Amino acid sequence: MTVVPGQKGTAGVEEVPDPDAQDAALLVRGMALGLCGTDHEIAEGAYGTPPSGEERLIIGHESLGEVLEAPAGSGFAPGDLVVGIVRRPDPVPCPACAGGEWDMCRTDSFGERGIVRLHGYGSERWRVEPDFAVPIPSGLGELGVLLEPASVLAKAWDQVDRISQRAFFLRGRALVTGAGPISLMACLLGVQRGYEMHVVDLALAGPKRDLVEDLGARYHAGDAVDIGVDVDVVIECTGLGAVGRSAARRLASGGIMCLTGIMNLSPALDVDATTLNRNMVLRNQVLFGTVNAGRRHWEQAAQALATADPSWLRGLITRRVPLTS
Ligand SMILES: [Zn+2]
Repeated sequence: MTVVPGQKGTAGVEEVPDPDAQDAALLVRGMALGLCGTDHEIAEGAYGTPPSGEERLIIGHESLGEVLEAPAGSGFAPGDLVVGIVRRPDPVPCPACAGGEWDMCRTDSFGERGIVRLHGYGSERWRVEPDFAVPIPSGLGELGVLLEPASVLAKAWDQVDRISQRAFFLRGRALVTGAGPISLMACLLGVQRGYEMHVVDLALAGPKRDLVEDLGARYHAGDAVDIGVDVDVVIECTGLGAVGRSAARRLASGGIMCLTGIMNLSPALDVDATTLNRNMVLRNQVLFGTVNAGRRHWEQAAQALATADPSWLRGLITRRVPLTS
């Protein structure tokens, strides 16, 4: 699956050479690939960068494959299921990348498989370095394709957990905004942590509501300000300013609000710094943003998926299409 980044209408399927053994030690047979909003933005020409000196980019960053070749001592063997980590450290590593925390990179010169500067996993054969391959528990099977989005939420919750260490904190209720796949994954991880989970979305009924209620979480159709309870954690997944502001009004004193959605509106039109300031100062609140995921988050996500109900996870996959041009 390739595209000429920056040029709408160039996405397609084409023959490319097999990946070079010098690129990375593990050779993998691609089994499944998740597509998300980032892939749509790349296909629309809004985003993405090809590798240096090349015109086309192989897209795909939500991978799953079966190891075909693995050198002795790599920790992997043929037949293992693996997912490839997306980000790679910047070439002249910043202090965060040098310390192995490339998800917290201090520069914008990192590479991301299938997104910026590095070919992705959208091919029948791909290669990955053992250090950037995550083993998938065999019982998970093709549901391992959900690992990349799960890793992003594992990081969000890991950051909430770490921030909550600063002082007294009640692990009581949490609110997730939106009920798409990212929100549902945030809800799953909150349930697994023992939170009383609430999800707010505009849809009155349908699969989103069913998936939320199947987790034992409370589903609210409408505005977050009307959910009737205050919460200790908000995970904002919509990237909509109005939704974020409504949810923030439900954040308890000492609460933590995590932003994972990206707002596209003009900043000048969509900010209320005075209210934000008064709540954060007078109520000891924390507002933070998070993106990408480090190695430990991928491993946490694999554990989270392995303990989730497989039939619930299958409900997150809306449709399947073959790799054809
Ligand atoms: Zn860096």
